[in-house]
Amino acid sequence: MTISEPAVSFDPLVYRQDFPILQREVHPGRPLVYFDNAATTQRPRQVIQTIVEMYEKHYANVHRGIHTLADETTELYEEARRRVCRFINARSEEEIIFTSGATASINLVARAWGDANIRPGDEILVTEMEHHSNLVPWFQLAERRGATVRFIPINDQGELVLDNLDTLLTERTKIVAVTVVSNVLGTINPVESIIRAAHSVGAKVLVDGAQSVPHLVTDVQKMDADFLAFSGHKMLGPSGIGVLYGKREILEAMPPFMGGGSMIREVRLDGFVPGDLPYRFEAGTPPIVGAIGLAAAIDYLERIGLERIAVHENQLTVKLHAALAEMPRVRVFGPAPDKKGGIVSFVVDGIHAHDVAQLLDSVGVAVRAGHHCAMPLHKRLGVVATARASFYFYNTLNEIDQLVEGLERAQRIFK
Ligand code: PLP
Repeated sequence: MTISEPAVSFDPLVYRQDFPILQREVHPGRPLVYFDNAATTQRPRQVIQTIVEMYEKHYANVHRGIHTLADETTELYEEARRRVCRFINARSEEEIIFTSGATASINLVARAWGDANIRPGDEILVTEMEHHSNLVPWFQLAERRGATVRFIPINDQGELVLDNLDTLLTERTKIVAVTVVSNVLGTINPVESIIRAAHSVGAKVLVDGAQSVPHLVTDVQKMDADFLAFSGHKMLGPSGIGVLYGKREILEAMPPFMGGGSMIREVRLDGFVPGDLPYRFEAGTPPIVGAIGLAAAIDYLERIGLERIAVHENQLTVKLHAALAEMPRVRVFGPAPDKKGGIVSFVVDGIHAHDVAQLLDSVGVAVRAGHHCAMPLHKRLGVVATARASFYFYNTLNEIDQLVEGLERAQRIFK
């Protein structure tokens, strides 16, 4: 994916009209500048309306009833699965499992695949820049199975150091878990080459797409990922919906993780026979409206075009990097804008990140402050907390000026 291509005309104001929340003020005279998109995005009317219509017109439980509403809901739910399948270019909708989010998807793999395949002495390879959701499930798996977790380090620019990848990958490495885009640094990692290297030693690869699927074109076949996890709420969809993609032959060989209704073919008093894919991994009533809302979000994103979204976000990133470079006491983490997504984490020396975020809020700018669920990464960066501005296609270049104004104010107050 190249994000430095020349800008095509893109007007975020056209899309902002669809987002009721972006019309509000957060303080008198201070319109909302929403720069917390890496945490969660906002929803357009089209998605909200889909959710309302589901509850007002179609709602019933899926797969179980022989009545009109149940049929309609089942058809919409399964159409949402087909929609997700096309969006990430999976081979078949049986490879698409609906979960409650990226975290649940990663835990599903660590439990169902991990417990069946990881043996004492095996190794799990992750990176120093992972979100806790792509670390803790592997630590837990390693503890359960007597395995070891190893790390691909990062350099001072916030990029993965891959020179020694062939020594980190051994015949003991059974799975590699890596994010496409860092939720702190914005770094876009070369996942395709990592996947090729991992496959050459027979390891599987789980790709964390939480910060990439909403912003960059994703093609699981081209990437050759074994698993891909992402969340609906970071891409205009409802909260409580996520996706696990897995290659069919790997999913078929995995025992189910959670037991309950819908995931079985047969239950007897002496045991059960698991159902087919993908239902075998969707025990209980699934996030029905969430999945259908996610499909509406994907429709919306595809109407804009992810390539155009990435170019616009890059312009925002370039502008903020340039502005921050001019400001005294400000340190930005991560690589240059041409190597990253629309995420800019920084510190202002002498001002705690929480104070930075609070002062920015006073001028209407929402950013996140803290460790962003990446404590090992912050330790590596030598800071306890950063402030993070993260963009989506509805952000404007003028909004960056509002952030800069807020930072100047913070610097005047905390001399
Ligand atoms: N992975 C990355 C890179 C993330 O940024 C996040 C959320 O911030 C997650 C995983 C977890 O996503 P969720 O909380 O939606 O499960």
